[in-house]
Amino acid sequence: MTQQQPFDVLGAGSGGYIASIRAGQLGLKVACVEANPYADPKGEPRPGGTCLNVGCIPSKALLSSSEEFENIQKHVLAHGIRVAGATMDVPAMIARKDAIVTKMAQGIEFLFRKNKVTYLKGRATILGRADDGFKVAITRSGPTQELTARNLVIATGSLPRELPGIEVDNVDVCDNAGALDLRSVPRRMAIIGAGVIGLELGSVWRRLGAQVTVVEALPQLLPMCDTDVAREMLKLLTAQGMDFRFGARVTGLERASDGSLGLAYVDAQGIAHAVACDKLVVAVGRVPTTSDLGLETLGVKTTSRGFVDVDAQCRTSVDGVYAIGDVVRGPMLAHKAEDEGVMVMERIAGQAGHVNYDAIPSIIYTSPEVAWVGRTEQELKDAGIAYRTGRFPFTANGRALGNGDTSGFVKVLADEKTDAVLGAHIISTYASEMIGEATMAIEFKASAEDIGRISHAHPTLYEAMREASLAIGTGALNL
Ligand code: FAD
Ligand code: AMP
Repeated sequence: MTQQQPFDVLGAGSGGYIASIRAGQLGLKVACVEANPYADPKGEPRPGGTCLNVGCIPSKALLSSSEEFENIQKHVLAHGIRVAGATMDVPAMIARKDAIVTKMAQGIEFLFRKNKVTYLKGRATILGRADDGFKVAITRSGPTQELTARNLVIATGSLPRELPGIEVDNVDVCDNAGALDLRSVPRRMAIIGAGVIGLELGSVWRRLGAQVTVVEALPQLLPMCDTDVAREMLKLLTAQGMDFRFGARVTGLERASDGSLGLAYVDAQGIAHAVACDKLVVAVGRVPTTSDLGLETLGVKTTSRGFVDVDAQCRTSVDGVYAIGDVVRGPMLAHKAEDEGVMVMERIAGQAGHVNYDAIPSIIYTSPEVAWVGRTEQELKDAGIAYRTGRFPFTANGRALGNGDTSGFVKVLADEKTDAVLGAHIISTYASEMIGEATMAIEFKASAEDIGRISHAHPTLYEAMREASLAIGTGALNL
């Protein structure tokens, strides 16, 4: 491979670090720049972005710890196990989470070295374009470094959306970073936003004993999910003790002299309410990080909502400038960012990288978990696509009975004429693992009959995927 000028990647989150590693594997010369506000204990910027530092990984670590605790408190008795006096050492739980993050951050630095990625710590600002390439300034303490690059990959991710009048201090009023780093269980926690992040963080602290109230602007839970799934999850989460206030317009936050907070909102009828709490979590979505990047110096187009405007191959309006991950359209998911990073580098290397945006799974790591891929029933109806539905409940699954958790179901949607799988929706423990089969089915354009004819090990939870697929055609065997 001929020596080339570095392909700069701005941001070492899920998109940027994976893009850099793939570039290294392809023999491209690449520099990955990371400003990272999430410093390691020595104050060095840490790679991994939102996902590793304050997102996917720490939230799943705490979800796992809190689930263990809840199982011991509420569920192991059904197995005949008596445990008295279990307590949660919150600082130990947080230290475990931090150790996982540190280990994985070190892993990324190792992979950078292994794949000859030049890792540069500092804030990147695009200065412009010269005959020999794009000019990027990298600022940290000390003299500013300047890089010249033949291609740029913008992977600067996203930041929590702020609500006017509600200032996040990550002490009492937290975003995701603060809510993943509390040192004790608050008695009462209010959460603004019943999205994926709000439900996951709320689940952690509810399982540990907090009384959780979720205040949501929309009239319903999880509008992006299949309606059956959203309805069932509302039932299950409410039964677990989460208090939902829908159609709520937040109007302000008051602090009482005893330090407690009062979250004020107006309901759909215009009636004013207040939720008293000790910690407030703001989880109202995320905004792309595009400001102060110097995009305008190159004339890179952004959308009215601040995303970098890209085509299906993540090319921006400027030749040689690409953008991937949370900073562009599409679901804000780590694997989507990674897939785009791989696609872009393979295309730069002259290969045919692609992302199938119809086959990107989504997961909510509550208990039970929610996972889906492809179209929802509403989307198919709206698009006028004729479909058939197969559904199988976990109450009829032997493994679920053995595990002691039969909540949820699998629902498969297939094209009425071709039987091609168009969507799959799961509520269950380990839904996150089971969705892989449906994702592969959609990617390979498999039919529901194909899934029904594939041997599924017994007894397993994923037999429910087969049964739901059979229900579309010849009929489920165990229902
Ligand atoms: P990021 O991970 O945000 O990385 C961008 C990086 O760019 C950052 O490190 C930032 O410091 C750096 N940067 C920004 N500007 C500059 C600059 N000028 N110079 C240099 N560096 C810069 N997704 C999932 O798929 N599964 C999950 O379970 C999941 N859980 C989540 C839980 C929470 C609480 C949150 C908040 C998010 C979660 N996500 C999850 C979403 C996931 O974290 C993001 O989709 C993913 O991190 C996006 O990757 P990215 O590379 O686009 O951006
Ligand atoms: P997500 O985009 O999945 O992170 O979810 C964010 C959630 O916050 C969505 O369900 C939004 O409807 C909700 N939301 C956004 N703004 C507000 C607000 N001002 N008050 C209450 N909920 C909000």
